[in-house]
Amino acid sequence: MSSYSERARAILPGGVNSPVRAWNGVGGEPVPIVEAHGSRIVDAEGREMIDLVASWGPAILGHAHPTVVAAVKEAAARGLSFGATTEAEVELAELIRERYAPAERVRLVSTGTEATMTAIRLARAATGRHKFIKFAGCYHGHSDALLVAAGSGLATSGVPDSAGVTPGAAQDTIVLPYGDEAALTAAFAEHGSEVAAVITEAAPANMGVVAPPAGFNRLISTLCRNEGAVMILDEVLTGFRAGPAGYWGVERDHDVAADLDPWTPDLVTFGKVIGGGLPVAALGGRRDLMEQLAPLGPVYQAGTLSGNPVAVAAGLATMRLLTDEVHGRVAEAATSLRDGVSGALTAAGITHAVGSAGTLFSIFLGLESAPVTFEQVAGQDTAAFARLFHALRREGVALPPSAYEAWFVSAAHTASDVDHIVATVAAWAQSERDSRG
Ligand code: PLP
Repeated sequence: MSSYSERARAILPGGVNSPVRAWNGVGGEPVPIVEAHGSRIVDAEGREMIDLVASWGPAILGHAHPTVVAAVKEAAARGLSFGATTEAEVELAELIRERYAPAERVRLVSTGTEATMTAIRLARAATGRHKFIKFAGCYHGHSDALLVAAGSGLATSGVPDSAGVTPGAAQDTIVLPYGDEAALTAAFAEHGSEVAAVITEAAPANMGVVAPPAGFNRLISTLCRNEGAVMILDEVLTGFRAGPAGYWGVERDHDVAADLDPWTPDLVTFGKVIGGGLPVAALGGRRDLMEQLAPLGPVYQAGTLSGNPVAVAAGLATMRLLTDEVHGRVAEAATSLRDGVSGALTAAGITHAVGSAGTLFSIFLGLESAPVTFEQVAGQDTAAFARLFHALRREGVALPPSAYEAWFVSAAHTASDVDHIVATVAAWAQSERDSRG
């Protein structure tokens, strides 16, 4: 164990402040990070690596974009926090609505956890019902009622659900297999009048990336409307990353092209990209629902640092820079990396499947076809993933330390970054094939 990790473990439980940062799923010890610029991240031993973690999503422009850093410095010099409304908050919320029409009203918060927790509270208040439906493998933050069958962090640590969640807190959470239309329809048939909400990741990305089966999000929307429940679309990870209008926008564009009326969520949660690397998240949605939040309505929600001016400056600068052209570059890098890696694995005869949703993707080693349910995802070869993870590290590529995560690409990843990663995967795949005989 290095001196860094000894010191970290002596004060931080598990040596980390968020469990997914530990290397429990791949073995070995993480080295602290000291800086990151563009597509590169540098650790305390001076190793520079091509980064595919992107702070677990926010760094869509690459790290420390000069314009974002300048905006943060400028905002910080004017005061770190006021506890009062600023024009920049209004502008960020307007920008979110401009790009994502279902967010008719927006409440800024600091974490995705707060956004989803508030969404559930609001849906319960608006419907007068208690139960809600979530899907196994979808992660919506760590509030008690949502921490059931919650995907990557728990799956990597080998615990299906968190301890400390009382049966009372979880009793109104109905967990269904993702993508299972029959199970969803049956749950509404059984509990319809008691269901306040269905919450779903717009495209699951916390059990690896899963493409929603065609029509699944639309079915959720239709059932919610027919049964008087609220559809909560969690775009904390996918929002402004899977596409310019999140994964909802990917489906909307598809529906419009197919001459279908796009479906819309009632409430939507954002995080990650909208803070550009600082703590900003948001709840948005139908005006009549959102106006039930305090101080207009009876649903309480608050935050000392909500809409913090420095964090909002980072988010606003990031969102302004995130033009369609920049999204196009993210898409190009993601597509060539995804196809290159998959091609290299195929060439060496390594069984794998690709999960893909907009510009998000992940590789499932050992699976013959792209998974939909968490149960299918859990059939992947996590030991092979750990070998791939370490092979990439040795060649200066930082993958998320878990087989249950996306490979995060940014607009700063160059064609030569992609070539290096693909060549490294190809070399690993050859040696893997040789060692498997
Ligand atoms: N929802 C989704 C889909 C997420 O991916 C995450 C975090 O990874 C959250 C909610 C929770 O966000 P936070 O970590 O900011 O609380």
